[in-house]
Amino acid sequence: MSEPLAIFGGTFDPVHFGHLRLAEESIAHLGLGGVRWLPAGNPPHRGVPQVTGEQRLAMVRLATAGNLRFTVDAAEVEASAPSYTVHTLERLRCELGGVRPLVLLVGADAFAGLAGWHRWRDILELAHIAVSHRPGFPVEAASLPAELAAVFQQRRLADASGLCSAPGGGIVTFAMTQLAISATQIRKLLANGLSARYLLPDAVLDYIRAHSLYRNP
Ligand code: ATP
Repeated sequence: MSEPLAIFGGTFDPVHFGHLRLAEESIAHLGLGGVRWLPAGNPPHRGVPQVTGEQRLAMVRLATAGNLRFTVDAAEVEASAPSYTVHTLERLRCELGGVRPLVLLVGADAFAGLAGWHRWRDILELAHIAVSHRPGFPVEAASLPAELAAVFQQRRLADASGLCSAPGGGIVTFAMTQLAISATQIRKLLANGLSARYLLPDAVLDYIRAHSLYRNP
């Protein structure tokens, strides 16, 4: 079986170093062949992003440029329908076949909300889930909603080596460098005319400036 491929979805409004370290560290922690970044087009679980999908996609491309293990998938941004993760995974299964392990990367906050996602149980039929630690969001069954806690306990893998032995179905957690950075914080700084430097790549900040994004409305 070939090395697992990770799928990293998000609004990336804008992409920042918390995202980049999550993706980078997951490669070694989980033994991945690569990470496919998937900016959400019209994310169904949250409010309308402040900038367009094309702009968020452009920022992800700038942030990930030069990393040979990273690829960027524009399909969700280009689609007119809402982006549901389960549909994306079905598309990837058609593209890649049923055998290669797929790993959906999520931060602990996103995982805690999984039971609200469209056809969330089917996601585990299509892929594994890897949950990274994030400051302020414990990854333990006791802090999850009951139905998700039960699945977490049943599906939890002792370590990442289990990701290679099946195409999907397992849940693994991993501890990444803890970075209390969020896109919300960056949008607030920028809206208040404050510096967001060193929270996200300079190339992304240059793009934000050049396109006058995240200014106070
Ligand atoms: P917002 O503040 O707008 O909600 P965000 O910073 O959480 O945005 P998203 O694009 O919503 O960023 O996140 C994409 C994925 O990255 C999610 O799975 C989220 O849990 C994870 N993530 C984001 N920031 C971090 C971080 N600092 N540490 C670990 N995981 C993170």
